[in-house]
Amino acid sequence: MRLSERAKAIKPSPTLAMDAKAKALKAAGEDIVNFGVGEPDFDTPDNIKEAAIKAIRDGFTKYTPVGGTDELKTAVTEKFRKDNNLIYEKDEIIVSCGAKHSLYNIAEALFGPGDEVIIPSPYWVTYPDQVILNDAAPVIVATDEQDSFTLRPELLKAKVSGKTKALILNSPSNPTGLAYDRKSLENIAEMAVKHDFYIISDEIYEKLTYEGFSHFSIASLGDEIKQRTIVVNGLSKSHAMTGWRVGFAAGPKDIIKAMTNIQSQSTSNPSSITQKASVEALTGPQDFIPKMVSEFDRRRKYMVERLNKIKGVSCIKPVGAFYAFPKVSFCYGKMLNGKSVNSSLDLSTYLLERAGVAVVPGMAFGDDRYIRLSYATSMENIKKGLDRIEDALSKLE
Ligand SMILES: *Cc1c(COP(=O)(O)O)cnc(C)c1O
Repeated sequence: MRLSERAKAIKPSPTLAMDAKAKALKAAGEDIVNFGVGEPDFDTPDNIKEAAIKAIRDGFTKYTPVGGTDELKTAVTEKFRKDNNLIYEKDEIIVSCGAKHSLYNIAEALFGPGDEVIIPSPYWVTYPDQVILNDAAPVIVATDEQDSFTLRPELLKAKVSGKTKALILNSPSNPTGLAYDRKSLENIAEMAVKHDFYIISDEIYEKLTYEGFSHFSIASLGDEIKQRTIVVNGLSKSHAMTGWRVGFAAGPKDIIKAMTNIQSQSTSNPSSITQKASVEALTGPQDFIPKMVSEFDRRRKYMVERLNKIKGVSCIKPVGAFYAFPKVSFCYGKMLNGKSVNSSLDLSTYLLERAGVAVVPGMAFGDDRYIRLSYATSMENIKKGLDRIEDALSKLE
């Protein structure tokens, strides 16, 4: 086999490896509680499904414009106006096959050899690899729990260089569940304007927030920062549409045009049927969202409280997304059932094999002191899984 250097540079995702192991155990008949999932456990609302069925019946089954139909782009511009106070023209919007695909188009349109891209850790697993796939260098900046895992200006300043092309922000964050307030965004925006780098703002969890936290888009801070920001969003999380493959981005016209050209030579348009469903998702009734959010909120409170009751574990309260990110490094160096635990991967492997609970090791997100647990699963599963974790950790020696 003679693979490209590019293909060889990409590591298999540790999230997927753990997931595969959990699924294999489940298939073999084991009772596994899966806290590894990264998608809502809710079904796509019926009105959205109906719109897709209608699209098929009406024969809306052909190629569309590469970057999305006019109808959908109009709905997307309206969404930005309503939710984020951001005014975009249709030629400043691209619809892709998922937010991940929009992010990839951005990476291809902007990054190349010699470019540095700043990524605060803990980060979403995909960001560094998308940078590497486009021959640029990820520059990881570790953030701290004490700063709510947000990037302090001094930390950012220390990493900015003449080669800095962009900073990737994700708020609310996967995996930490924390989010940037307006003040921290102002500091970052100031740096971006001063040093002239782009902000890629992944806002996929904007609708899933708790404790009265209200999401704010960095692009809305003013025209100078808007000209340097590409906002990425989508329907996978907000409308439980992960399998439909739709996401979108908004930004300066020339960047969106380059992304559209790239998309035209790779995937072409996102599914015509999904696009009709997405118009309904954006313009139809939205009452599904607060219902889903209030159920997530109930589980969030329960999970965080239980985690904090486990001796040695500490878990900061998330204000967004559907993940808890407890610190578990207290147990490194200790023994569990005669085996020493020295990393988030060791602990995750132990929890899966001995306790029947799948979690994602923090190492996958660039911080080995933590593990990630998703509460996008039933309350019953959450109770059972936490009982098991508590029991397993009580066997530490
Ligand atoms: C789920 C997720 C996405 C994108 O999902 P798509 O299904 O590709 O729209 C993007 N960023 C983060 C941080 C996510 O967790």
